[in-house]
Amino acid sequence: MDISEKIFKKLKELQKEEGSLPPYLELYRKLLLVQIDAKGNAPATKASLTKAEIENTLTNGIPLLKWDAIPVDWNSFQKLAQAAAKTIGEHSGNTEKSPEKVKLEIPSLQQMAKAWYEGSPLTTWANDLGIDEVLLSAVIDCAMKPLLTAQAKNLLKSFPQDMWRRGYCPVCGGKPDFAYLDREKGARWLLCSRCDAEWLFQRLECPYCRTSNQKDLAYYTDDKGMYRLYICKQCHTYLKTIDLRNAESEVLLPLERVLTADLDRQGQEKGYKGA
Ligand SMILES: [Zn+2]
Ligand SMILES: [Zn+2]
Repeated sequence: MDISEKIFKKLKELQKEEGSLPPYLELYRKLLLVQIDAKGNAPATKASLTKAEIENTLTNGIPLLKWDAIPVDWNSFQKLAQAAAKTIGEHSGNTEKSPEKVKLEIPSLQQMAKAWYEGSPLTTWANDLGIDEVLLSAVIDCAMKPLLTAQAKNLLKSFPQDMWRRGYCPVCGGKPDFAYLDREKGARWLLCSRCDAEWLFQRLECPYCRTSNQKDLAYYTDDKGMYRLYICKQCHTYLKTIDLRNAESEVLLPLERVLTADLDRQGQEKGYKGA
């Protein structure tokens, strides 16, 4: 069972226990299903790099996965994006700028996906299509996710963890939006918001602004010592973290990111923003 199937199973159990899932989890579950359904169509080719290429790229602070090296079957991508738009649109209930009925054509999807990957805003396309930019970005994110996680999984197999201590993802260049302290030593690992890659990072440094000024860094913890909310007073950002040394059962990190919505609320209430 791969991780998305495990997460799907876990959500089913939660739903049984609770009777129903809160709306944000229900949306997550539906999008996951859309991605699982599309999996059969994902291109099997993987970007491959030699050891020397990997080392050279990382030394220069460049993420491993170039846009052109991502194999995309655009017909499948379009189907997945269209299904994601419908699901997100239905969920948002925002009738005027909802992506529910938008028609996403391949040429514009190609441009949008590239722009999104390179961190550019999707404002122009959102305006042209008449839909909300945040929702459009969520659509592209959903359609890219299976492609990126597959590539990350492959590239991380031979990844020299000691060569990368940066605040952005070594695979796709995305920002981390979750972290964990490992069971062995309590070392801190960051989780990429886009491709779910994990990489080691200093515990006493902010990954967003790189300050290591201890006066600006702090964390809050819950009663069980299971979760931490790291905050940085320099760039006013928070980072949700799970301490695996205190976790009893198997932890599914991409799901934890969603289940910890309460930590997001706490962070925002304290005046900090997420990645
Ligand atoms: Zn990434
Ligand atoms: Zn910071």
